[in-house]
Amino acid sequence: MSEDVNPFESLQEQIDDAAAYLDVGPDVLERLKRPERVLETNLSVELDDGSIELFEAYRSQFNGDRGPYKGGIRYHPNVSRDEVKALSGWMVYKCAVVDIPYGGGKGGIVVDPREYSASELERLTRSYAKELRPLIGPDKDIPAPDVNTGQREMNWIKDTYETLENTTAPGTITGKALTSGGSEGRVEATGRSVMLTAREAFEYLGKDIAEATVAVQGFGNAGSVAAELIADDLGASVVAVSDSSGAVYDPAGLDVAAAKAHKMETGALTGFDGAESELTNRELLTLDADLVIPAALENAIDEDIAEDVRTDMIVEAANGPLTPDADDVLTDRDVAVFPDVLANAGGVTVSYFEWVQNRQRFNWTEQRVNDELERVITEAFDGLTDAYEARDLPSYRTAAYVVAIQRVAKAADESGVFP
Ligand code: NAD
Repeated sequence: MSEDVNPFESLQEQIDDAAAYLDVGPDVLERLKRPERVLETNLSVELDDGSIELFEAYRSQFNGDRGPYKGGIRYHPNVSRDEVKALSGWMVYKCAVVDIPYGGGKGGIVVDPREYSASELERLTRSYAKELRPLIGPDKDIPAPDVNTGQREMNWIKDTYETLENTTAPGTITGKALTSGGSEGRVEATGRSVMLTAREAFEYLGKDIAEATVAVQGFGNAGSVAAELIADDLGASVVAVSDSSGAVYDPAGLDVAAAKAHKMETGALTGFDGAESELTNRELLTLDADLVIPAALENAIDEDIAEDVRTDMIVEAANGPLTPDADDVLTDRDVAVFPDVLANAGGVTVSYFEWVQNRQRFNWTEQRVNDELERVITEAFDGLTDAYEARDLPSYRTAAYVVAIQRVAKAADESGVFP
């Protein structure tokens, strides 16, 4: 894993790579490479012992030409201004790839939530929500969960916003609990789109996923659901999964549900007695599997690891899991990489369905959510592979950005510049 690569520079490089195949003016291109605004704030939070601690926090609104800013909120000690900027840009292009009417945003707090009590995290989240209040709202900017945040934090943010605004506005935030205006299928949505992308990718490349072996790095919301659905719905053999404690491996295939139960019980995958052996995360990423799914954090695969990768296919569940150098190496080595902006777009797509339901005050069934998600992801997959073939593009990532940049640039151009 590379700590040195600046994800914001990676994003800008990806945009430049794709723009080389497009007729986009340099003035428009510059607008598509930088956020419109970034909130940087220091939150004062009272801890349980009565002391006050300051927490650095951000919200980046990257581009709103196609609709309200949309994107998650991350709690992690490595959150930085540039990371949040990059993640907000990826949201713009992700929403454009799957053609949902949103721009992109992202937020983060520099915190290791494991070190704080639930009441401290509630005060931190509500303090952050107070700072966000003027910027967010159902028609402005709609946050969602990301690493280390979930329904609990979304509910606190919704409640803080509604209390301060003296209204009910569930569409202010997505990823809420069902009882607070959440959507059926939202928790599984990211893993489901990873599964759908893998299914389409195998079919497109003329391979049988039911015969495939799969390794998944990262066993949180995105990775564990993807692993489970790929095994249960597609019949593939998930041979390795990992979390920050390490990887567990069984060439005969793991019982993913049992591995999940073990992690729930002990807090870590390692020590799972249903596996044949344990591996390092590097060994997992370089396994000779038919499909590798990075589902942890960005920059997980650097140039060095990319040289040793033995799979033919990567489906990116995490955001930005390859450094640009790793991406180049894998393209040169003909590894088919299906990019994050398509593969993990299920999260934002079902967030969009949640927002639609909140605005209509009408709830959909889980079947309807899953059917609509399948339609969105398969259409986006076809759009991406059509562009890949029609323009003879070097990678599926470039194809995704070509499709997305065209859409955002057109909207930006049609909107013009104020004043
Ligand atoms: P999560 O916190 O639920 O899970 C993250 C997992 O990665 C954990 O199992 C953790 O132990 C593991 N991990 C962390 N560092 C690791 C390392 N060095 N090696 C191996 N495993 C490691 O987070 P999540 O929501 O599943 O998000 C994972 C990725 O997917 C992130 O890049 C996130 O931006 C992206 N993503 C998530 C969603 C969503 O809806 N949850 C949507 C789109 C994209």
